[in-house]
Amino acid sequence: MEFKPGVDFAKKLDKEDPLSSYKKRFYIPEMESLNMDGKTKSVKPIIYMDGNSLGLASKDVEEEIKAEFERWKNLSTRRSGIDKKAAEYQAKLVGAEPDEVIVTGGASINLHALVSTFYKPKGKRTKIIGDELNFSSDLYALAGEVRLKGRDPEKDLIVVKSRDGRTIAEEDIIAAMSDEVSVCHLPSVYFVSGQLLDIKRLTKAAHDKGVIIGYDCCHSVGVIPHKFHEWGVDYALWCNYKYMNGSTGAIAGLYVHRSHFKETPGLPTWWGNSPGNRFDFKAEWTPTGNAASWHLGSNLSIGFGVSPVYASSKMIVDAGLDKIREKSLKATDYMMFLIDELLSKKPYNYSVGNPREAEKRGGHVACEHVEARRICEALTARGVLPDFRPPTTIRLSPIPLYTTYQEIWEVIQHLKAVIDNKEYMKFDANKKESY
Ligand SMILES: *Cc1c(COP(=O)(O)O)cnc(C)c1O
Repeated sequence: MEFKPGVDFAKKLDKEDPLSSYKKRFYIPEMESLNMDGKTKSVKPIIYMDGNSLGLASKDVEEEIKAEFERWKNLSTRRSGIDKKAAEYQAKLVGAEPDEVIVTGGASINLHALVSTFYKPKGKRTKIIGDELNFSSDLYALAGEVRLKGRDPEKDLIVVKSRDGRTIAEEDIIAAMSDEVSVCHLPSVYFVSGQLLDIKRLTKAAHDKGVIIGYDCCHSVGVIPHKFHEWGVDYALWCNYKYMNGSTGAIAGLYVHRSHFKETPGLPTWWGNSPGNRFDFKAEWTPTGNAASWHLGSNLSIGFGVSPVYASSKMIVDAGLDKIREKSLKATDYMMFLIDELLSKKPYNYSVGNPREAEKRGGHVACEHVEARRICEALTARGVLPDFRPPTTIRLSPIPLYTTYQEIWEVIQHLKAVIDNKEYMKFDANKKESY
C-alpha cells in the first residue's frame, strides 16, 4: 500500500478501518501532559503504545468480572462452564482443537508444567534447545528444569546465539537439532525485536529429527493467527494480559497436541486428574484424555482470573483474528513508513529495528535510537506511553482494536518534537532501569 505523510491520510485510513467501532469498548485513561508545542499542558487521553505489555481494560472484561462476582455470591461458578467456554475461544485463536487448550496457571508456571512433562532425558537425548533472545523467564525455567532432572545446564542447555544481537537465524536453530536433543523451546515472537519465527517450518524440522518442540506465544496470541494443531506443534503457552487485554489477574493459556494426551503431566494436581479420580489418593495418574490433565489446581483454573479471559477472547474472535492481523500489519507498516520518511535523517536519527517482511514480524515496531531511554521519558511527559527495552529500543505497539492511525501519526510528531525541542535532555542520562 502507498502511504502519504500528512495527517489527512491518517484520517482517511481511520475512516476505512473495519475495526474502528471497538475503541469505544476500551477505557483510555486521561493524564495531564504536555501539548504538541512542548510548553503548555492539558488533561487529555493518553496515546497508549504499550498494549503488548499490558492491554487496556475493556467494558466487556469489566462486565464479566462483575458477572463472576455474582456467580461467587450465588455459588454457581463451577457449574457456569465459563472456564470451558474461555478455553474454546482460546483454541480458535491458536488454531487448536477445543480439547487441546485449557486456561490455567501463568505463563512462567505453564512453561515449567510443559517442559517438565516433555523433557525426559534418556540415553543420548539429554539436551534442551533455548536461545539467547527469548524472554528471561524462559531461559531461567529451561535451566531450572535441567537441574530438576539432576543434570547440568552447562552441558544440557544449548543456547542458540544471535548473529546480529536482534534476531535468531532459523537455520541456526535447525542446525542445533541433533539426536542429542530432547526438547526445543522457542518464542513465537521475540519480545524486543518483534521477529516472528516460522513455526510451521521449525516444527517440521524438529520432528524430522525426533525432537519435541514447544513455543512461548505471549507476544503473538491475540494478534497473530496460529495453526498449532495442523502444524503439529507439541505444546505452547501464553499469557492473557498483553495483546489479549484479559486483565491484570488474567489466567494464562496452555496447549498440548492430542497425540500427547496420555502423558503424565510434569506437575500433576488433583484438578488435572480425570474428574472421577480426583480423590483416588493414588500415586499413579489417570489421564483425562485431553489437555485438562495439565490443570494447575482448581483455583488457577476457574473464577476471577478465567472469566475475563472468556470475555476478552470472545471479543477478539468476534472481531476476527484475520482482520486484527491485517490491521496490525497495516498499522505497523504505516508507522515504519513515517519513521523512514520523517525521522530517519539528521538530526532525528531514528531507525526501524524489527524485521520488515510481514511474515517475519509481530505486532510491534522496534524503533531504535541511542537516546531511547530518555526519549521514552520525554514521550511519557507528553502523554504518549511507549515501552523502553535497553539499550536502544523504543517499543511501539499499535493495538488493532483501540489504536487509530491518527494516533500513530501523532506519535511520530511527538518523536520528532522531543528531538526538535531537545526535551529528552531534561532527563537523567544515567538513571538505572527499574524494570
Ligand atoms: C510477558 C512474557 C512472559 C511473562 O510471564 P509471566 O509468568 O506472566 O510473568 C513470559 N514469556 C514471554 C515471552 C513474555 O513476553
